[in-house]
Amino acid sequence: MSLIFYSEKCIACGQCVEVCPFGVLRLEGETLVIGEGCNLCGACVEVCEVAALVLPEAAGPAPRPGVPPDGVWVFAEQRHGVLAPVTAELLGEARRLAAALNVKVAAVLLGEGVASLAPKLLGAGAHRVYLAEHPVLKEFLEEAYAGALTELAQKFQPEIILAGATYAGRAFIPRVAAALKTGLTADCTAFDLDLEPRLLLQTRPAFGGNIMATIITPRTYPQMATARPGVFKSRPPAAANQGEVLRVDLRCLEAPGRTRFVSTVAEIKERVALSAAEVVVAGGRGLKEAKNFRLLEELANLLGGAVGASRGAVDAGWIPYAHQIGQTGKTVSPKLYIACGISGAAQHLVGMQSADFIVAINKDPQAPIFQVADVGLVGDLFDIVPALIQEIKKDRGLK
Ligand code: FAD
Repeated sequence: MSLIFYSEKCIACGQCVEVCPFGVLRLEGETLVIGEGCNLCGACVEVCEVAALVLPEAAGPAPRPGVPPDGVWVFAEQRHGVLAPVTAELLGEARRLAAALNVKVAAVLLGEGVASLAPKLLGAGAHRVYLAEHPVLKEFLEEAYAGALTELAQKFQPEIILAGATYAGRAFIPRVAAALKTGLTADCTAFDLDLEPRLLLQTRPAFGGNIMATIITPRTYPQMATARPGVFKSRPPAAANQGEVLRVDLRCLEAPGRTRFVSTVAEIKERVALSAAEVVVAGGRGLKEAKNFRLLEELANLLGGAVGASRGAVDAGWIPYAHQIGQTGKTVSPKLYIACGISGAAQHLVGMQSADFIVAINKDPQAPIFQVADVGLVGDLFDIVPALIQEIKKDRGLK
Protein backbone atom coordinates (compact mmCIF):
# COMPACT_ATOMS: atom_id res chain seq x y z
CA MET A 1 0.00 0.00 0.00
CA SER A 2 1.33 3.42 -0.83
CA LEU A 3 0.26 7.02 -0.47
CA ILE A 4 -2.17 8.12 -3.20
CA PHE A 5 -1.15 11.32 -4.97
CA TYR A 6 -3.47 13.30 -7.31
CA SER A 7 -0.91 15.41 -9.19
CA GLU A 8 -3.64 17.39 -10.97
CA LYS A 9 -4.88 18.74 -7.63
CA CYS A 10 -1.44 19.59 -6.20
CA ILE A 11 -0.64 23.33 -5.93
CA ALA A 12 2.98 22.73 -4.86
CA CYS A 13 2.47 24.69 -1.63
CA GLY A 14 5.15 22.58 0.10
CA GLN A 15 3.25 22.16 3.38
CA CYS A 16 3.35 18.39 3.11
CA VAL A 17 7.13 18.52 2.61
CA GLU A 18 7.51 20.54 5.79
CA VAL A 19 5.44 18.26 8.02
CA CYS A 20 6.69 14.91 6.74
CA PRO A 21 8.54 13.53 9.81
CA PHE A 22 10.56 11.13 7.68
CA GLY A 23 11.74 13.51 4.95
CA VAL A 24 10.17 11.32 2.31
CA LEU A 25 8.52 14.15 0.35
CA ARG A 26 10.31 16.75 -1.72
CA LEU A 27 9.43 19.30 -4.36
CA GLU A 28 11.32 19.26 -7.62
CA GLY A 29 10.24 22.53 -9.14
CA GLU A 30 6.44 22.33 -8.99
CA THR A 31 6.37 18.55 -8.86
CA LEU A 32 5.92 16.66 -5.63
CA VAL A 33 8.12 13.57 -5.42
CA ILE A 34 7.32 10.80 -2.93
CA GLY A 35 10.54 8.99 -2.01
CA GLU A 36 11.19 5.66 -0.33
CA GLY A 37 10.27 5.12 3.29
CA CYS A 38 6.70 6.45 3.59
CA ASN A 39 5.02 4.65 6.46
CA LEU A 40 1.58 6.14 5.83
CA CYS A 41 1.64 8.21 9.02
CA GLY A 42 -0.87 10.62 7.44
CA ALA A 43 0.81 13.88 8.54
CA CYS A 44 0.91 15.16 4.93
CA VAL A 45 -2.70 14.16 4.29
CA GLU A 46 -3.86 16.25 7.24
CA VAL A 47 -2.18 19.45 6.03
CA CYS A 48 -3.00 19.11 2.33
CA GLU A 49 -5.75 21.70 1.78
CA VAL A 50 -6.55 20.51 -1.75
CA ALA A 51 -6.81 16.80 -0.94
CA ALA A 52 -4.04 15.91 -3.37
CA LEU A 53 -2.70 13.36 -0.92
CA VAL A 54 -4.91 10.54 0.32
CA LEU A 55 -4.22 7.50 2.45
CA PRO A 56 -5.09 4.14 0.88
CA GLU A 57 -8.02 2.27 2.37
CA ALA A 58 -6.74 0.21 5.26
CA ALA A 59 -6.84 -3.44 4.36
CA GLY A 60 -9.28 -5.36 6.52
CA PRO A 61 -8.05 -8.30 8.54
CA ALA A 62 -7.12 -11.30 6.47
CA PRO A 63 -9.90 -13.87 6.59
CA ARG A 64 -9.33 -16.27 9.45
CA PRO A 65 -8.69 -19.82 8.35
CA GLY A 66 -11.19 -22.48 9.36
CA VAL A 67 -11.18 -23.54 13.01
CA PRO A 68 -8.52 -26.25 13.53
CA PRO A 69 -9.99 -29.55 14.61
CA ASP A 70 -7.96 -30.51 17.65
CA GLY A 71 -9.20 -28.41 20.53
CA VAL A 72 -7.07 -27.20 23.42
CA TRP A 73 -3.56 -28.56 23.99
CA VAL A 74 -1.42 -28.40 27.09
CA PHE A 75 2.32 -29.04 26.97
CA ALA A 76 2.89 -31.60 29.72
CA GLU A 77 6.15 -30.45 31.23
CA GLN A 78 8.12 -33.16 33.01
CA ARG A 79 11.66 -33.49 34.22
CA HIS A 80 13.20 -36.88 34.91
CA GLY A 81 9.74 -38.41 35.04
CA VAL A 82 8.17 -35.87 37.41
CA LEU A 83 5.40 -33.65 36.09
CA ALA A 84 5.74 -29.93 36.73
CA PRO A 85 2.77 -28.75 38.88
CA VAL A 86 1.87 -26.16 36.23
CA THR A 87 0.84 -29.01 33.90
CA ALA A 88 -2.11 -30.03 36.08
CA GLU A 89 -2.98 -26.36 36.65
CA LEU A 90 -3.15 -25.76 32.91
CA LEU A 91 -5.11 -28.94 32.28
CA GLY A 92 -7.73 -27.71 34.75
CA GLU A 93 -7.95 -24.37 32.95
CA ALA A 94 -7.92 -26.07 29.55
CA ARG A 95 -10.96 -28.12 30.56
CA ARG A 96 -12.86 -24.96 31.39
CA LEU A 97 -11.97 -23.36 28.05
CA ALA A 98 -12.60 -26.54 26.08
CA ALA A 99 -16.05 -27.00 27.64
CA ALA A 100 -17.04 -23.49 26.54
CA LEU A 101 -15.69 -24.11 23.03
CA ASN A 102 -17.20 -27.59 22.90
CA VAL A 103 -13.89 -29.26 22.06
CA LYS A 104 -11.55 -31.72 23.75
CA VAL A 105 -8.34 -31.29 25.74
CA ALA A 106 -5.10 -33.00 24.80
CA ALA A 107 -1.82 -33.15 26.70
CA VAL A 108 1.46 -33.40 24.79
CA LEU A 109 3.96 -35.58 26.62
CA LEU A 110 7.53 -35.60 25.32
CA GLY A 111 10.43 -37.51 26.85
CA GLU A 112 11.91 -40.97 27.16
CA GLY A 113 10.46 -43.61 29.44
CA VAL A 114 7.66 -41.27 30.47
CA ALA A 115 4.63 -43.32 29.38
CA SER A 116 3.71 -43.94 33.03
CA LEU A 117 2.82 -40.25 33.33
CA ALA A 118 0.04 -40.50 30.74
CA PRO A 119 -2.64 -41.81 33.18
CA LYS A 120 -1.85 -38.89 35.50
CA LEU A 121 -2.50 -36.47 32.65
CA LEU A 122 -5.80 -38.15 31.85
CA GLY A 123 -6.68 -37.97 35.53
CA ALA A 124 -5.80 -34.27 35.62
CA GLY A 125 -8.18 -33.40 32.80
CA ALA A 126 -6.81 -34.48 29.42
CA HIS A 127 -9.16 -36.38 27.10
CA ARG A 128 -6.19 -37.51 25.04
CA VAL A 129 -2.42 -37.73 25.50
CA TYR A 130 -0.07 -37.44 22.56
CA LEU A 131 2.99 -39.37 23.65
CA ALA A 132 6.33 -39.05 21.87
CA GLU A 133 9.19 -41.03 23.38
CA HIS A 134 12.69 -40.81 21.96
CA PRO A 135 16.24 -40.77 23.38
CA VAL A 136 16.69 -37.21 22.06
CA LEU A 137 13.80 -36.10 24.28
CA LYS A 138 15.28 -37.60 27.47
CA GLU A 139 16.74 -34.28 28.60
CA PHE A 140 15.16 -30.94 27.80
CA LEU A 141 16.70 -29.53 24.63
CA GLU A 142 15.03 -26.47 23.16
CA GLU A 143 15.66 -27.47 19.58
CA ALA A 144 14.32 -31.02 19.90
CA TYR A 145 11.30 -30.07 22.00
CA ALA A 146 10.41 -27.17 19.69
CA GLY A 147 10.71 -29.42 16.64
CA ALA A 148 8.57 -32.12 18.25
CA LEU A 149 5.75 -29.82 19.36
CA THR A 150 5.78 -28.02 16.02
CA GLU A 151 5.53 -31.25 14.06
CA LEU A 152 2.68 -32.48 16.26
CA ALA A 153 0.79 -29.20 15.93
CA GLN A 154 1.21 -29.22 12.15
CA LYS A 155 -0.10 -32.75 12.00
CA PHE A 156 -3.06 -32.58 14.39
CA GLN A 157 -3.83 -28.83 14.34
CA PRO A 158 -4.88 -27.64 17.77
CA GLU A 159 -6.97 -24.50 18.16
CA ILE A 160 -5.11 -23.41 21.31
CA ILE A 161 -1.77 -24.40 22.87
CA LEU A 162 -0.99 -23.61 26.52
CA ALA A 163 2.31 -24.15 28.31
CA GLY A 164 3.84 -23.14 31.62
CA ALA A 165 5.88 -19.92 31.76
CA THR A 166 8.64 -21.98 33.32
CA TYR A 167 12.29 -22.12 32.37
CA ALA A 168 11.49 -24.73 29.71
CA GLY A 169 8.29 -23.10 28.47
CA ARG A 170 9.92 -19.71 28.14
CA ALA A 171 12.86 -21.25 26.32
CA PHE A 172 11.16 -23.28 23.60
CA ILE A 173 7.53 -22.18 23.16
CA PRO A 174 8.51 -18.96 21.29
CA ARG A 175 10.34 -21.15 18.75
CA VAL A 176 7.19 -23.19 18.24
CA ALA A 177 5.07 -20.07 17.73
CA ALA A 178 7.58 -18.74 15.22
CA ALA A 179 7.70 -22.03 13.33
CA LEU A 180 3.89 -22.18 13.21
CA LYS A 181 3.80 -18.50 12.15
CA THR A 182 1.37 -17.58 14.88
CA GLY A 183 1.26 -15.27 17.90
CA LEU A 184 2.24 -16.00 21.48
CA THR A 185 1.38 -14.24 24.72
CA ALA A 186 3.90 -15.00 27.44
CA ASP A 187 3.37 -15.07 31.20
CA CYS A 188 -0.45 -14.90 31.23
CA THR A 189 -2.28 -14.67 34.51
CA ALA A 190 -5.83 -15.17 33.21
CA PHE A 191 -7.66 -16.60 30.21
CA ASP A 192 -11.13 -16.02 28.90
CA LEU A 193 -12.99 -16.48 25.65
CA ASP A 194 -14.80 -14.35 23.14
CA LEU A 195 -16.98 -17.20 21.99
CA GLU A 196 -18.46 -16.02 18.71
CA PRO A 197 -15.10 -15.47 16.98
CA ARG A 198 -13.57 -18.20 19.20
CA LEU A 199 -10.86 -15.88 20.45
CA LEU A 200 -8.72 -16.76 23.45
CA LEU A 201 -8.45 -13.63 25.60
CA GLN A 202 -4.94 -13.75 27.03
CA THR A 203 -4.41 -11.44 29.99
CA ARG A 204 -1.01 -10.55 31.41
CA PRO A 205 0.56 -7.68 33.36
CA ALA A 206 2.21 -5.06 31.18
CA PHE A 207 4.29 -1.93 31.74
CA GLY A 208 5.89 -3.25 34.88
CA GLY A 209 2.60 -4.55 36.23
CA ASN A 210 0.87 -1.17 36.11
CA ILE A 211 -1.80 -2.35 33.69
CA MET A 212 -3.31 -5.67 32.72
CA ALA A 213 -3.28 -6.15 28.95
CA THR A 214 -5.66 -8.53 27.21
CA ILE A 215 -4.13 -9.83 24.02
CA ILE A 216 -5.77 -11.77 21.18
CA THR A 217 -4.49 -13.70 18.19
CA PRO A 218 -7.25 -12.90 15.71
CA ARG A 219 -5.78 -14.03 12.39
CA THR A 220 -3.73 -17.15 12.93
CA TYR A 221 -3.92 -20.57 14.58
CA PRO A 222 -3.07 -22.00 16.98
CA GLN A 223 -3.64 -19.34 19.62
CA MET A 224 -0.65 -19.79 21.92
CA ALA A 225 0.06 -18.64 25.45
CA THR A 226 2.27 -19.46 28.40
CA ALA A 227 0.92 -19.03 31.93
CA ARG A 228 2.68 -18.43 35.19
CA PRO A 229 2.83 -21.39 37.55
CA GLY A 230 0.52 -21.17 40.54
CA VAL A 231 -2.08 -18.98 38.85
CA PHE A 232 -4.66 -21.63 37.94
CA LYS A 233 -6.19 -24.32 40.10
CA SER A 234 -5.70 -27.93 39.15
CA ARG A 235 -8.74 -30.20 39.24
CA PRO A 236 -8.95 -32.86 41.92
CA PRO A 237 -7.25 -35.89 40.31
CA ALA A 238 -9.75 -38.32 38.84
CA ALA A 239 -9.42 -41.94 37.81
CA ALA A 240 -7.88 -42.07 34.36
CA ASN A 241 -10.25 -44.71 33.07
CA GLN A 242 -11.39 -42.54 30.21
CA GLY A 243 -9.40 -41.04 27.44
CA GLU A 244 -6.78 -42.33 25.08
CA VAL A 245 -3.03 -42.33 24.74
CA LEU A 246 -1.80 -41.87 21.19
CA ARG A 247 1.83 -42.78 20.56
CA VAL A 248 3.39 -40.73 17.80
CA ASP A 249 6.65 -41.05 15.90
CA LEU A 250 8.20 -37.77 14.92
CA ARG A 251 10.27 -37.38 11.78
CA CYS A 252 12.06 -34.30 13.07
CA LEU A 253 13.81 -36.33 15.79
CA GLU A 254 15.57 -38.54 13.28
CA ALA A 255 17.49 -35.65 11.71
CA PRO A 256 20.73 -34.74 13.51
CA GLY A 257 20.18 -31.66 15.68
CA ARG A 258 22.57 -28.76 16.20
CA THR A 259 22.49 -29.12 19.97
CA ARG A 260 23.14 -32.11 22.19
CA PHE A 261 22.90 -32.73 25.88
CA VAL A 262 26.28 -32.79 27.63
CA SER A 263 25.62 -32.81 31.37
CA THR A 264 23.56 -31.29 34.13
CA VAL A 265 25.39 -29.12 36.64
CA ALA A 266 23.57 -28.64 39.92
CA GLU A 267 23.45 -24.98 40.82
CA ILE A 268 24.76 -23.92 44.20
CA LYS A 269 21.71 -23.06 46.29
CA GLU A 270 21.20 -19.46 47.27
CA ARG A 271 22.20 -18.74 50.83
CA VAL A 272 19.03 -16.79 51.56
CA ALA A 273 15.94 -17.28 49.41
CA LEU A 274 16.08 -14.19 47.24
CA SER A 275 12.35 -13.81 46.75
CA ALA A 276 11.70 -13.77 50.51
CA ALA A 277 14.76 -11.71 51.59
CA GLU A 278 14.13 -8.47 53.47
CA VAL A 279 17.41 -7.02 52.24
CA VAL A 280 18.79 -7.52 48.74
CA VAL A 281 22.22 -6.32 47.67
CA ALA A 282 22.35 -6.58 43.90
CA GLY A 283 25.23 -6.16 41.49
CA GLY A 284 25.48 -5.44 37.79
CA ARG A 285 28.07 -5.08 35.10
CA GLY A 286 29.64 -2.28 37.10
CA LEU A 287 31.20 -5.00 39.27
CA LYS A 288 33.60 -5.73 36.40
CA GLU A 289 34.31 -9.37 37.31
CA ALA A 290 32.95 -12.37 39.18
CA LYS A 291 35.24 -12.15 42.20
CA ASN A 292 33.92 -8.69 43.06
CA PHE A 293 30.58 -10.21 44.04
CA ARG A 294 32.40 -11.17 47.28
CA LEU A 295 32.14 -7.53 48.25
CA LEU A 296 28.36 -7.66 47.88
CA GLU A 297 28.21 -10.96 49.76
CA GLU A 298 30.01 -9.34 52.66
CA LEU A 299 27.56 -6.44 52.73
CA ALA A 300 24.56 -8.79 52.36
CA ASN A 301 25.91 -10.97 55.21
CA LEU A 302 26.18 -7.98 57.52
CA LEU A 303 22.62 -6.93 56.68
CA GLY A 304 21.19 -10.47 56.84
CA GLY A 305 20.22 -10.28 53.22
CA ALA A 306 20.63 -12.01 49.88
CA VAL A 307 22.67 -11.21 46.80
CA GLY A 308 20.85 -10.38 43.59
CA ALA A 309 22.12 -9.50 40.14
CA SER A 310 21.23 -7.87 36.88
CA ARG A 311 21.03 -9.95 33.75
CA GLY A 312 24.15 -8.17 32.59
CA ALA A 313 26.12 -9.78 35.43
CA VAL A 314 24.43 -13.17 34.96
CA ASP A 315 25.06 -13.18 31.21
CA ALA A 316 28.71 -12.37 31.89
CA GLY A 317 28.86 -15.60 33.91
CA TRP A 318 29.75 -13.86 37.17
CA ILE A 319 26.83 -15.25 39.19
CA PRO A 320 24.24 -18.01 38.59
CA TYR A 321 20.89 -17.27 37.00
CA ALA A 322 19.10 -18.05 40.30
CA HIS A 323 20.21 -14.59 41.45
CA GLN A 324 18.86 -12.67 38.45
CA ILE A 325 16.26 -10.05 39.21
CA GLY A 326 13.92 -8.65 36.60
CA GLN A 327 11.60 -9.50 33.79
CA THR A 328 13.26 -12.79 33.00
CA GLY A 329 14.48 -13.41 36.52
CA LYS A 330 12.95 -13.16 39.99
CA THR A 331 10.66 -10.46 41.31
CA VAL A 332 11.71 -9.22 44.73
CA SER A 333 10.01 -6.90 47.14
CA PRO A 334 12.44 -6.43 50.05
CA LYS A 335 12.45 -3.70 52.69
CA LEU A 336 15.86 -2.54 51.39
CA TYR A 337 17.30 -2.94 47.90
CA ILE A 338 20.88 -1.81 47.27
CA ALA A 339 21.72 -1.67 43.54
CA CYS A 340 25.47 -1.56 42.87
CA GLY A 341 26.70 -0.83 39.36
CA ILE A 342 23.31 -1.51 37.79
CA SER A 343 22.11 0.93 35.13
CA GLY A 344 18.39 0.39 35.79
CA ALA A 345 17.08 -0.95 32.48
CA ALA A 346 13.29 -1.29 32.39
CA GLN A 347 13.62 -5.09 32.42
CA HIS A 348 15.56 -4.90 35.70
CA LEU A 349 13.26 -2.32 37.32
CA VAL A 350 10.24 -4.57 36.74
CA GLY A 351 11.73 -7.05 39.20
CA MET A 352 12.64 -4.71 42.06
CA GLN A 353 10.83 -1.41 41.95
CA SER A 354 8.28 -2.45 44.54
CA ALA A 355 11.06 -2.59 47.19
CA ASP A 356 10.23 -0.36 50.18
CA PHE A 357 13.53 1.54 50.06
CA ILE A 358 15.98 1.63 47.19
CA VAL A 359 19.61 2.72 47.42
CA ALA A 360 21.44 3.05 44.10
CA ILE A 361 25.21 3.26 43.73
CA ASN A 362 26.37 4.22 40.27
CA LYS A 363 29.14 6.41 38.93
CA ASP A 364 26.91 7.73 36.14
CA PRO A 365 24.59 10.46 37.53
CA GLN A 366 22.29 9.95 34.52
CA ALA A 367 21.78 6.22 35.18
CA PRO A 368 18.02 5.44 35.08
CA ILE A 369 18.28 3.51 38.37
CA PHE A 370 18.37 6.91 40.14
CA GLN A 371 14.83 7.60 38.94
CA VAL A 372 13.46 4.86 41.19
CA ALA A 373 15.98 5.26 44.02
CA ASP A 374 15.11 6.76 47.41
CA VAL A 375 18.79 7.44 47.96
CA GLY A 376 21.27 7.78 45.12
CA LEU A 377 25.03 7.61 45.68
CA VAL A 378 26.92 8.87 42.64
CA GLY A 379 30.40 7.41 42.74
CA ASP A 380 32.59 4.37 42.39
CA LEU A 381 31.05 1.32 44.05
CA PHE A 382 34.56 0.08 44.86
CA ASP A 383 34.92 3.10 47.15
CA ILE A 384 31.35 3.26 48.44
CA VAL A 385 30.60 -0.41 49.23
CA PRO A 386 33.80 -0.97 51.29
CA ALA A 387 33.07 2.29 53.13
CA LEU A 388 29.53 1.09 53.91
CA ILE A 389 30.88 -2.26 55.13
CA GLN A 390 33.39 -0.50 57.32
CA GLU A 391 30.75 1.83 58.82
CA ILE A 392 28.40 -1.06 59.60
CA LYS A 393 31.22 -3.02 61.22
CA LYS A 394 32.29 -0.01 63.22
CA ASP A 395 28.72 0.57 64.34
CA ARG A 396 28.47 -3.03 65.52
CA GLY A 397 31.88 -3.11 67.13
CA LEU A 398 33.18 -5.63 64.58
CA LYS A 399 36.67 -5.70 63.14
P1 FAD B 1 24.82 -2.00 32.27
O1 FAD B 1 23.58 -1.53 31.62
O2 FAD B 1 26.04 -2.16 31.44
O3 FAD B 1 25.11 -1.03 33.48
C1 FAD B 1 26.26 -1.07 34.25
C2 FAD B 1 26.20 0.15 35.14
O4 FAD B 1 27.28 0.11 36.03
C3 FAD B 1 26.30 1.47 34.38
O5 FAD B 1 25.18 2.29 34.71
C4 FAD B 1 27.61 2.09 34.87
O6 FAD B 1 27.53 3.50 35.00
C5 FAD B 1 27.75 1.44 36.22
N1 FAD B 1 29.15 1.33 36.68
C6 FAD B 1 30.22 0.88 35.99
N2 FAD B 1 31.31 0.87 36.78
C7 FAD B 1 30.92 1.32 37.99
C8 FAD B 1 31.60 1.53 39.23
N3 FAD B 1 32.89 1.23 39.37
N4 FAD B 1 30.89 2.03 40.25
C9 FAD B 1 29.57 2.33 40.13
N5 FAD B 1 28.88 2.14 38.97
C10 FAD B 1 29.54 1.63 37.93
N6 FAD B 1 18.04 -7.28 32.84
C11 FAD B 1 17.91 -7.61 34.13
O7 FAD B 1 18.64 -7.08 34.99
N7 FAD B 1 16.97 -8.54 34.50
C12 FAD B 1 16.15 -9.17 33.62
O8 FAD B 1 15.38 -10.02 34.04
C13 FAD B 1 16.27 -8.81 32.25
N8 FAD B 1 15.44 -9.36 31.34
C14 FAD B 1 15.55 -8.95 30.04
C15 FAD B 1 14.64 -9.45 29.11
C16 FAD B 1 14.71 -9.03 27.81
C17 FAD B 1 13.72 -9.56 26.82
C18 FAD B 1 15.71 -8.11 27.42
C19 FAD B 1 15.79 -7.63 26.00
C20 FAD B 1 16.61 -7.62 28.34
C21 FAD B 1 16.55 -8.04 29.65
N9 FAD B 1 17.44 -7.56 30.59
C22 FAD B 1 17.26 -7.87 31.88
C23 FAD B 1 18.66 -6.81 30.20
C24 FAD B 1 18.53 -5.31 30.43
O9 FAD B 1 17.96 -4.70 29.31
C25 FAD B 1 19.94 -4.71 30.64
O10 FAD B 1 20.75 -5.03 29.54
C26 FAD B 1 20.63 -5.21 31.90
O11 FAD B 1 19.79 -5.04 33.03
C27 FAD B 1 21.91 -4.38 32.09
O12 FAD B 1 22.61 -4.87 33.19
P2 FAD B 1 23.53 -3.89 34.04
O13 FAD B 1 22.70 -2.76 34.57
O14 FAD B 1 24.27 -4.72 35.00
O15 FAD B 1 24.60 -3.41 32.96
